[in-house]
Amino acid sequence: MATLVIPAPQVHTIPTSGGGAFPVRRVYCIGRNYAAHAVEMGHDPDREPPFFFQKNPNNLDVSGEFPYPPHSTDVHHEIELVVALKSGGSNIPLDKALDHVWGYAVSLDMTRRDLQGEAKKLGRPWEIGKAFERSGPVGPLFPVSEVGHPDQGRIALKVNGALRQEGDLNQMIWKVPEMISYLSEYFELAAGDVIMSGTPSGVNAVVKGDVMEAAVEGVGTLTVKVV
Ligand code: MN
Repeated sequence: MATLVIPAPQVHTIPTSGGGAFPVRRVYCIGRNYAAHAVEMGHDPDREPPFFFQKNPNNLDVSGEFPYPPHSTDVHHEIELVVALKSGGSNIPLDKALDHVWGYAVSLDMTRRDLQGEAKKLGRPWEIGKAFERSGPVGPLFPVSEVGHPDQGRIALKVNGALRQEGDLNQMIWKVPEMISYLSEYFELAAGDVIMSGTPSGVNAVVKGDVMEAAVEGVGTLTVKVV
């Protein structure tokens, strides 16, 4: 191999419940995957084809702190279940999709909603609203051997103790196997890819000092302070 002309970027990892580290390759995020959230964002909740955007691997952050980002005055929380893949491929059939899952975690898809809104209006990409530094607070990954494949159970977020978001994993419009299978038709999935599986209704703004407590039944909790 040719000599690297600059130092290699570090592989970004998420800690696992067993003390290991899961290396992240790509981060896919589905939009509008709970009907009530689609409605609150002004869309028809009918089963339109799924759509995805991406965050960057090193946007995932396990520090427990979320630095309020620049150039926004309307930063929203979106609690989401993370699906982490141990293998991948193309054109993965539905009935084989879950075989590729390593585990699950609780995460937040933090969003500069004002910038995302401008991008939507202008037909521009969403990265400026979605893929900024530390925009993906995440808890430890739990292997399938510990948590199974959670497809029902409460998903909820409190801010400063007050309930903001609440739903059930069984309300996902596109289920985890469907997301994996669909993505694999358009992209070659691989070990290290993670999918943020969408958020229930109740997204809202945070301010500095807020404490967000995210919980997914059967997977765990994640507490993050806005700083
Ligand atoms: Mn989201």
